[in-house]
Amino acid sequence: MAKKWVYLFDEVAAAESYTGSWDGVRALLGGKGSGLADMTRAGVPVPPGFTVTTEACNQFSALDKFPAGMWKQELAALQEVEKRTRKKFGDPTKPLLVSCRSGAKFSMPGMMDTVLNIGLTDKTAEGMIKLTGNPRFVYDSYRRLVEMFGTVVLGIADEAFEEPLKAYKEKKGYKLDTEMTAEDWKAMADAFKAVVKKEKGFDFPQDPLKQLELATEAVFKSWNGKRAVDYRRATNIPDDLGTAVNIVTMVFGNMGDDSGTGVAFTRNPSTGERKMYGDYLLNAQGEDVVAGIRNTEPIENLVQKMPEVYHQFMDITAKLEKHYQEMQDVEFTIERGKLWMLQTRNGKRTAKAAVKIAVDMANEGLITKEEAVLRVTPENVDTLLHPQFDERAKKAAEKSGAFFAKGVNASPGAAVGQAYFDADTAEKMAKEKKQAVIMVRPFTKPDDVHGMIASKGVLTSEGGATSHAAVVARQFGIPCVVGASSITIDLERRVMEVNGKVVKEGEWISVDGTTGEVFIGQIKTIEPKIEEQTELLTILNWADEICARDGVRKAPNGWPRRGLQVWANADYPKDARRARSYGAKGIGLCRTEHMFFETERLPIVQRMILAKSSEERTAALNELLPYQRKDFDGLFEAMDGYPVIIRLIDPPLHEFMPDEEKLFEEVVTMRVKGEKKGLQEKEELLTAIKAMHESNPMMGLRGVRLSIAMPEIVEMQVRAIFEAAADCTLRKIVVKPEVMIPLTGTVKELEWIQPRLERIAKTVMEEKKVSFSYKFGTMIEIPRAAVTAAEIAKLAEFFSFGTNDLTQMTFGYSRDDAERNFLVTYVEQKILPKNPFQTLDRDGVGRLMEWAITEGRQTRLELEVGICGEHGGDPESIEWCHLIGNNYVSCSPFRVPIARLAAAHVALKYSGKAIVEDK
Ligand code: PEP
Ligand code: MG
Repeated sequence: MAKKWVYLFDEVAAAESYTGSWDGVRALLGGKGSGLADMTRAGVPVPPGFTVTTEACNQFSALDKFPAGMWKQELAALQEVEKRTRKKFGDPTKPLLVSCRSGAKFSMPGMMDTVLNIGLTDKTAEGMIKLTGNPRFVYDSYRRLVEMFGTVVLGIADEAFEEPLKAYKEKKGYKLDTEMTAEDWKAMADAFKAVVKKEKGFDFPQDPLKQLELATEAVFKSWNGKRAVDYRRATNIPDDLGTAVNIVTMVFGNMGDDSGTGVAFTRNPSTGERKMYGDYLLNAQGEDVVAGIRNTEPIENLVQKMPEVYHQFMDITAKLEKHYQEMQDVEFTIERGKLWMLQTRNGKRTAKAAVKIAVDMANEGLITKEEAVLRVTPENVDTLLHPQFDERAKKAAEKSGAFFAKGVNASPGAAVGQAYFDADTAEKMAKEKKQAVIMVRPFTKPDDVHGMIASKGVLTSEGGATSHAAVVARQFGIPCVVGASSITIDLERRVMEVNGKVVKEGEWISVDGTTGEVFIGQIKTIEPKIEEQTELLTILNWADEICARDGVRKAPNGWPRRGLQVWANADYPKDARRARSYGAKGIGLCRTEHMFFETERLPIVQRMILAKSSEERTAALNELLPYQRKDFDGLFEAMDGYPVIIRLIDPPLHEFMPDEEKLFEEVVTMRVKGEKKGLQEKEELLTAIKAMHESNPMMGLRGVRLSIAMPEIVEMQVRAIFEAAADCTLRKIVVKPEVMIPLTGTVKELEWIQPRLERIAKTVMEEKKVSFSYKFGTMIEIPRAAVTAAEIAKLAEFFSFGTNDLTQMTFGYSRDDAERNFLVTYVEQKILPKNPFQTLDRDGVGRLMEWAITEGRQTRLELEVGICGEHGGDPESIEWCHLIGNNYVSCSPFRVPIARLAAAHVALKYSGKAIVEDK
């Protein structure tokens, strides 16, 4: 059988049997095509039509011509549509008009092309007038076709059409398009045809089939247009999917006041509220609503104008939402009182709405809790924890007269930046000058997306909640205010103005996408409070429930059978408290050296380092001990009942000393000026610092090596840990201290240091007459430690992967140098898929980790394994940790909610699949 390139809307069963799945149908017919076919099957009123497949598009891209047989099939499908509509393409007595619409598997709103009213020619236009008795509508439609065909298919610039229309309206003294009469639109249709002739040297095609052929070709080509390619890069949509082309019988919303058109979401895409949200316009065509050229009416007003249509619409959309179990974004047209559905797809939404809709739908019984958790992305959680305006600062700004304008709150969040009035400048200022930018436009078009993505916020003076700017901003989580109609933007003078208040390009503004307000100047922002975000907390609790299920990992005996826990890296009690409020189930890393840097402690630390004898050193350490004990006490108290991993001192000692170069300068200056006072001390200090110099401190005297060279420091630390733990126990706080030895390379190091430290632990417990459980373990940061994990686990009761160092040492890169010098090139040149310091390199570092766990657990089955490098908060790296059998991941407190969600996602993705043997 010949290859099938074209499917009528009611041939969805054939597409299903060809592809074998609904996902396959979506890939073949695109989101729009499969939606139209699915609605047709469900008995929803959809205008007859057909879809040319994405496979045809890919063939077209490869061959630069239609694949063999495709055009013939398109013509045959057109005949079928003619039969069903009892109209005929190109026949002036009963003309059939069609639209030619792009539609890829994943929605790419406005990124590809569409041509409406195909089939109108000088002759069919006359016929349409006879049939409809409405010359104004016909000429309006005709000029739209010539304009769209001219820009989309023939590549003529928009302005070539916009300018004559503007000039014409000015001449006539019209403000609005609605003032244009039939004669006026006829004049415009002629003017536009003249534009085509002038720009291209040939006439606008009067053969409807030629129009269809060229439009199909143009939509195929738009898959590889700049806008579409940029959008795919930004959203990770693969390039080889191709777009389908949908040929749909035209229905007209601009046939009078009993006609109209609109777009709507079945729930509020900004807040998630369960209420139809959308706009419509009477006597208009689709792009009028989306482009925001005319001011739209809220959808609920339709109930007064056309109650029957409204109720039918509500009924159909409710069914669609139930059928897809997802919030739908629909387009509809009413032609002379009859409702037609033109599109349904899963609606884009803000992070806030995503979370609310997921929780509501689970509570309504429409989806399961698991599905609800899967529908929220780690990026959504990230966005929700992003800054908002400080209410008091906002009030103060209002009082001081900084309020500028109010528009529609299209995409929530606070954005502060410098105003730039076009996409190219916005992108340039953000990327090259590293400025915080707010892009300001009258309205946006698909060509503006690069500027929007580079901006912190977007502001438009026109358009509504479903305008292009609003839809794109919501998708990318960019705060956005649209339709702030009091603002006059003068693109030539590069200023905007409201009642004499002027903002020049480059000046600071603050945009509140949550309320729609715009202010002049910079308003302070604050971190949102997680405890006030009830729906997010619900999702995260469900995520934890999923991870805590026994058997969610099918693992060898003794290995973790539950999902990952999420712990946090926290050095101070206040961080630990935050981590706990964000849902951390333990502290995975407390970097104790941070405590040494505090102002009153640093001189003692320096004295300890410079000590000439062990006694002198011990004296300094005895001074430090109470500080450390207090720190640990606070941590244990904050984490009552949860494990706290405390890492013994890690960095090389020179980090605690004054900068060598600076000190040298000081000494030289003193010598030159002949200053004697204090010179000798400084000279001695300089000599001591010079003696500490190492060529490569990252690989020098640090971590366990330092502990062996100077055991007094870690002995003091262990005493402080256990004294604090004992004191807490006496106060009825449940402590679970875990002492972590950093940078181990050989088990011999642990054999040297660990027993000494354990003796101190026992002594303190005896002294204080308390007992509690504790662990001693190590970081795995050096490849040799990973390789010899079986040996190391003889002493270490837990492993924590320090993947920052492990990545440095495995690649042999120094992170700072690599990120400054060559990593960007490596990623650009695809030598590395991603920055390995952000996302775990599974093939190298990841395999070392896997080996270490397997070997380690052969020695010690109950070995506790975690990760505390920065990868612990990265969803892709978290997936790897789940697969290789980690017990937990530990990350910064702010990333804990993201990690909890990511851990649940991976648990659901691999639920019931064995780890280690079967990845
Ligand atoms: C690591 O190396 O991954 C780690 C957590 O230690 P640090 O970043 O403190 O070297
Ligand atoms: Mg490290």
